[in-house]
Amino acid sequence: MSKFYESSKSTRSKKVLLRKGEQKNDQYWKSSEGVAVCPICKNVLFKKEWHHSDSKVLGKDFFSKKEFEKKEHHFKQCPACKMIKEGLYEGEISIKDVPVNHKDEVLKTIKAFAERGKKRDPQSRIIRIRKDRNSFNITTTENQMAVRIAKYLHKTFKKSQLSISHSKEPYEVSRVELVFMK
Ligand SMILES: [Zn+2]
Repeated sequence: MSKFYESSKSTRSKKVLLRKGEQKNDQYWKSSEGVAVCPICKNVLFKKEWHHSDSKVLGKDFFSKKEFEKKEHHFKQCPACKMIKEGLYEGEISIKDVPVNHKDEVLKTIKAFAERGKKRDPQSRIIRIRKDRNSFNITTTENQMAVRIAKYLHKTFKKSQLSISHSKEPYEVSRVELVFMK
């Protein structure tokens, strides 16, 4: 328990942006005292931000039946789950020519980095990791997350080349390529 509180001290949640297709009245929940809970991942929209269901910000016993029923609440899919369900993504990382003896380490580094990021912002997630013979293709719910992962890999595995590109539609998508040098 103490470990949890320690690690969540730095909990920050991302501002919720009005995405395409999001209903105008969704804004209501961002300004009211009420909360919205994602039925898939149990993230909680509270005071304009999405939080982990066990975030300290929500207070003790948030989900205890008695406490929760007192709160004005409804269920609403969070932007990350919605994006995953619709097959969309904001960030894509292509990692190419990974030396065979580095494959496991690269994967482990990506997963650990993503786990730390998700602790800070529950909406910041890896959607899918596709493995090929000597390459990885990773999609993320957030464009900056893809950039951060790739930069971190580039710093960790010095013999690699990094290139970043951005495009606007339908979301602001960042595509990052990291190529290992022979
Ligand atoms: Zn969700």
